[in-house]
Amino acid sequence: MAVSDHVNLEQFMAGVEKRNMGQTEFIQAVREVAQDIFDFIADKEEYHEAQILRRIAEPDRVVSFRVCWEDDNHNIRVQRGWRVQNNNAIGPYKGGIRFHPSVNESILKFLAFEQTFKNSLTGLPMGGGKGGSNFNPKGKSDSEVMRFCQSFMTELYRHIGPDTDVPAGDIGVGGREIGYMFGQYKRITNRWEGVLTGKAVEYGGSQMRPEATGYGAVYFLQNMLKHQGQDVEGRTTIISGSGNVATHAAEKIVELGGKVLTLSDSGGFIHDPDGIDQEKINWVKELKTERRGRISEYADHFTNATFHEGARPWRVEAELALPCATQNELNGDEARAMVKNGVIAVSEGANMPTTLEGVDVFHDAHIMYAPGKAANAGGVAVSGLEMSQNSERVSWHTERLGDLLQDIMKDIHEKSAEYGSDEDGGYVNYVKGANIAGFKKVADAMLAFGVV
Ligand code: GLU
Repeated sequence: MAVSDHVNLEQFMAGVEKRNMGQTEFIQAVREVAQDIFDFIADKEEYHEAQILRRIAEPDRVVSFRVCWEDDNHNIRVQRGWRVQNNNAIGPYKGGIRFHPSVNESILKFLAFEQTFKNSLTGLPMGGGKGGSNFNPKGKSDSEVMRFCQSFMTELYRHIGPDTDVPAGDIGVGGREIGYMFGQYKRITNRWEGVLTGKAVEYGGSQMRPEATGYGAVYFLQNMLKHQGQDVEGRTTIISGSGNVATHAAEKIVELGGKVLTLSDSGGFIHDPDGIDQEKINWVKELKTERRGRISEYADHFTNATFHEGARPWRVEAELALPCATQNELNGDEARAMVKNGVIAVSEGANMPTTLEGVDVFHDAHIMYAPGKAANAGGVAVSGLEMSQNSERVSWHTERLGDLLQDIMKDIHEKSAEYGSDEDGGYVNYVKGANIAGFKKVADAMLAFGVV
């Protein structure tokens, strides 16, 4: 086929929309990648001939199943579970499990698609997948969560394995849930193997895994700033979220001499003009992982802090921003407010937190902007290292893992900057850079396999 006969971006997207009717998040994620890849492959006939983009936008498989469990009042509850195995060209499927009432097939397909490029960027041999359920862990007792996790794994176990698909945590799935699921997998299969990551260190987990996503997002931010001769020190920072990613991002910002002003949850955000220091971060960690409370309690506990119900932190004046909550939590208007307030850099700890319009605003204003697939890859990178340790039956020291994480984030920054720099080497489009660098490795592996 001659290059001139190729479909254009809009024709390609029309097909994606038709085949994935109403799956808005998935379509959004494919468009964001496709617009960069179209330019990149324009003169590369082998990718067109092999229909690589068309194939990469179609998950290898989507498994959907019923999850039945009994609540504390002996009511039988029915949830839906999924595992989306998007692409295993460069390694076993790898990606988290999300438990949240908003979970549906579109969200998991978008996350599995993004994960494929993210995992490729880490340089480690991991394909892309994602799973989850519309189960809402909020307000559930420990035993309810345990029964749900066991039931979920009773179906999931047949689709996963250390060389097949290795799930981990995500929103609503932390150490507690991983423990329940790993225990059930081991019980059903009678095998102790590295089938999940994000495990506690007592049973095969890796040092640095809890910190990795948040620290990694700050390391990426640091690399971007350094590229422009700047630094985190002394800079005000707005952060959304208050879970594992947000609290560890805050911790690293504080360690580097920055000042954290905000955190949030689904109820609203807190603004602490005195700065959220390490002691306050520890308090939030305890609030969220032990007492399982709401971020609004922060404002009752610390003087000068205010709680803003139902709002997001993006209009608070600051120089740096780390969206670490969830997808589409930062829109065009909020991005414009941030530009007006003088934000110089944004690094995404969450997956696709900025809408397509918001991304355009940052690019037009030439703000340093790192998409989640590059900036938050530190989490899955250390998961990859957890897999290596499990295979080798060893456990590495914190220091070694910390150094590896820093090296990996530096490398992802370099790759993204290489493919994302404009002709005169000025502004770096990290979205484009990450998309192309992530795509190339997966696409070249797929080419090597022929038509499969
Ligand atoms: N859920 C995380 C992510 O979005 C981590 C996945 C993993 O460790 O496999 O990358």
